[in-house]
Amino acid sequence: MVCGLWTEKMNLNLQDKVILISGGAKGIGGAISRALIEEGAIPVMIDPSEKEGKEILDLAKGKALQIPIRLFSPEDAESAVKMTFKTFGKIDGLVNNAGANDGVSLAHGNPVAYADSVAKNLFHYYYLAHYALPYLKKSRGAIVNISSKTAVTGQGSTSGYVSAKGAQLALTREWAVELLPFQIRVNAILPAEVYTPMYENWIQSFPNPEEKLAEINAQIPLGNRMTKPEEIASMAIFLLSEKASHITGQHLYVDGGYTHLDRAL
Ligand code: NAP
Repeated sequence: MVCGLWTEKMNLNLQDKVILISGGAKGIGGAISRALIEEGAIPVMIDPSEKEGKEILDLAKGKALQIPIRLFSPEDAESAVKMTFKTFGKIDGLVNNAGANDGVSLAHGNPVAYADSVAKNLFHYYYLAHYALPYLKKSRGAIVNISSKTAVTGQGSTSGYVSAKGAQLALTREWAVELLPFQIRVNAILPAEVYTPMYENWIQSFPNPEEKLAEINAQIPLGNRMTKPEEIASMAIFLLSEKASHITGQHLYVDGGYTHLDRAL
């Protein structure tokens, strides 16, 4: 007997939903594309990583698209949105995810590198949302912004990146308010330590990468391990789905308690 228990399988109802994902071929974005395929949705990966993109296209058996560009200018975003609409006739959601922690610090950076870092990590979030908006209004689609815990904790070596990550949280609230009349929900996810190709590059920059990794794992309260990209993806697809129908303007930490729990425990 299962008296009182919720036995119905959660159906996210994402079947055939067309979702744009910047940086959707690798790392966290790649995991989101794969999770969407499992749900029968159609990921559109805006990502120059062709080898990883092809693996996802193969997995989707034709129900996916890769736009192999590195987003930078407004025109890049506009053409990606137009190509998506031309191919599928609709856009049901947007995941702003592409970015890289490029370590432009206060002391060791310079004003030009700082401006470039902010531009690379932030501006295309606005551009994609701006150009996708008419289609999202039609579909009542949702927006998910991938930010970072560094937006609220700092990191001590990366002024441009944290400026962008902080602004993404502010824009999440701002867009959630602006888009209330259209029933478009906007939320942010804040990962902390997720083992992705970007993370791997960073770890390899230490003299003893294995020791550094063990040190970081030891500080993650839940399970002393990194968050898996798939665990970020689960939150992303939930937020894109109608099951999250009354969640908007939220900053959601998927980090094994890294940001908020007492790491001295
Ligand atoms: P990743 O492993 O480097 O994957 C990102 C993908 O996006 C790569 O395929 C990359 O291509 C692509 N990309 C980068 N810039 C792009 C652009 N301007 N236009 C289109 N594609 C672009 O990175 P990740 O670790 O999955 O990070 C994804 C997001 O999570 C980022 O916003 C990052 O700030 C955030 N995040 C990650 C962590 C973590 O622990 N991993 C923690 C906090 C926040 P290339 O490889 O060719 O550059």
